Amino acid sequence: MRQIIRIALDVPLDGLFDYYAPAGELLGAADIGLRVRVPFGRQMRIGVLTALPKHSELAETRLKDADAVLRDLPPLPAEWFRLCEFCAAYYHAPLGEVMLSTLPARLRRIDPPRARTPRRTARTPFPCPAPALTDEQEAVLAAITGEEGFHPYLLHGVTGSGKTEVYLRLIARALAAGRQALLLVPEINLTPQLEERVAARFPDVPLVSLHSELGEAARAQHWRAAFEGAARIVLGTRLAVFTPLPDLGLIIVDEEHDASFKQQEGMRYSARDVAVFRARARDIPIVLGSATPSLESWANATDPRTRARYQLLTLKARAIGGARLPAVRRIDTRQEKLQDGCCDALLAAINMRLARGEQSLVFLNRRGYAPVLSCPACGWISHCRRCAANLVLHLADRRLRCHHCGFECRVPKHCPTCGNQDIMPFGRGTQRLEAALAARFPYARVLRVDRDAAKSRKQWEALVARIRAGEADILVGTQMLAKGHDFPKLTLVGVLGADAALFAADWRAAERLFAQLMQVAGRAGRADLPGEVIIQTQYPDHPLYAALVRHDYAGFAEAQLKEREQAGFPPYTYQAMLRAESPHMADAIAFLATARAWPQAAEYPEVMLYDPVPMRLARRANLERAQLLVESPSRRVLQAFLTPWRSAVAAIKTPSRLRWHLEVDPMAF
Ligand code: ADP
Ligand code: ZN
Ligand code: ZN
Repeated sequence: MRQIIRIALDVPLDGLFDYYAPAGELLGAADIGLRVRVPFGRQMRIGVLTALPKHSELAETRLKDADAVLRDLPPLPAEWFRLCEFCAAYYHAPLGEVMLSTLPARLRRIDPPRARTPRRTARTPFPCPAPALTDEQEAVLAAITGEEGFHPYLLHGVTGSGKTEVYLRLIARALAAGRQALLLVPEINLTPQLEERVAARFPDVPLVSLHSELGEAARAQHWRAAFEGAARIVLGTRLAVFTPLPDLGLIIVDEEHDASFKQQEGMRYSARDVAVFRARARDIPIVLGSATPSLESWANATDPRTRARYQLLTLKARAIGGARLPAVRRIDTRQEKLQDGCCDALLAAINMRLARGEQSLVFLNRRGYAPVLSCPACGWISHCRRCAANLVLHLADRRLRCHHCGFECRVPKHCPTCGNQDIMPFGRGTQRLEAALAARFPYARVLRVDRDAAKSRKQWEALVARIRAGEADILVGTQMLAKGHDFPKLTLVGVLGADAALFAADWRAAERLFAQLMQVAGRAGRADLPGEVIIQTQYPDHPLYAALVRHDYAGFAEAQLKEREQAGFPPYTYQAMLRAESPHMADAIAFLATARAWPQAAEYPEVMLYDPVPMRLARRANLERAQLLVESPSRRVLQAFLTPWRSAVAAIKTPSRLRWHLEVDPMAF
């Protein structure tokens, strides 16, 4: 009798896989969670040992021998199993895919390259003592119970209100209690500053960061330090939420509203939601912090019907004595003649900053020179051949580029259809604004900060360093500049082209716009230098802008939630999205229609299946895309439906090039 072992593998097949234990090995319950090398198809693969079943459903003659049990790492713990099982069940993803995709690449490899000692990032922090807390910070910390147990908190505080200081104090508490702390941040770009700040506060505490830009060896080493309990503070982006942490006692999710917490490929999960699940399973406190919480979290903290699942904590004032919130002004562009897209008031305000040696930021969330190139003679416009989208003109390197599929080509010298030589850029992107401002203010140093100017983290850090050193007078930037940065001399923010989001088909656009504008406004002004924000709009009376003028997140959130409730949108309903892509739209739609016609759907009267429709970007990289929305007023009912439905969907016969996926709690539409 050979011993049977059950293995989770990252393969596109549901279920676990049975093998014989390698010859000569006798495995026990304590070995569950070890990695195992097994043959699969014509390859070897790494899987995770999940069980030692007495029998296999497979005929014993068909079982293959596992190749080796790897003991370079202790078994993955039961808590990690539960977390993966929760994700597999909730997101309807194969357990093997979940388990393996949460491990560092090196641990999934058959033949990991020889470990080089990872380069130490020379971190010699200047120890930085804690400041005396403000009254508000004291109150917040007093409200956060020191007790064990699951306590979810939503910490709402404007930019600069001292949330990070609160996190540091909570981390200190956890460390003093002998626990590990996990601090999640949305962006890799934000980790270095925060890492510095945390390290400066806890110079003697082992700290590791975990994010996708780390080299494979460094990531595996950091992960291992966390897993073995050597690292006491773990700072990371969304993937870090799965790190096994033996002494975990506190989770903090900073900028909890940020869309980067949502994984958009493979298993599509929300790291914030997974973090909340993990805190509950582990019975520990979790703090979600933001200046502009997601409406889901806000509802969880304020709606009496949810019986206030989260405890709301508020920091109203900026932490540094006297620092005020910037004055926000709306300029009605219907009444104004614009020059290069800017109104007189903005140009005058920039001029004044130049005279005073302060910095201005003009925010335009559209990169490139112009969103499209067109021919006034025949009406030709620069379309992407592979997507239902326009090619964006990038004059800096004279290319036309598709922002969806990456296709690019040279800028044509004349119209490809009629030969007209006067083809014209239409609309305005950051490059065009940069050029116009440079021409208008010839003595000013204009610096553009967008994804084209900061392609790598190095370039990004160099730009940030230049801004902080005062080597730029006028910044032209996209949302990249809005987040988490302190630029001491920045006192003016101008906002251009924000109106489009007010009437977007995506009903989350307003929430995102408000968060972005709050963030970008938060960049302006400091204790000694009051800030000013000028918003150019054709809809100055729009409630979103009115709330912004009042710095009234709560008012905005309540109004939005009311609208959502009336319209039957989340968080008052629960959604899942089935998406399909295929070279032919008809195939994608037919697949979704078959999924929709699942006969057992009638047994779930509380589940609504909408008509399959093309996605807003209906074609990307030569694939036609369609989606089917599934909705229910009850999360439990939706989940009960999705499990059998997904199996039925997986059994649908599809054309070979059709791909589909199911997303629970979808963010983008
Ligand atoms: P947030 O995370 O809410 O943006 P921070 O914690 O980064 O706010 O605080 C903003 C600024 O105020 C930082 O420069 C920080 O060092 C400072 N700060 C925070 N708390 C205090 C305090 N209690 N006393 C003095 N300065 C503080
Ligand atoms: Zn033409
Ligand atoms: Zn394209």
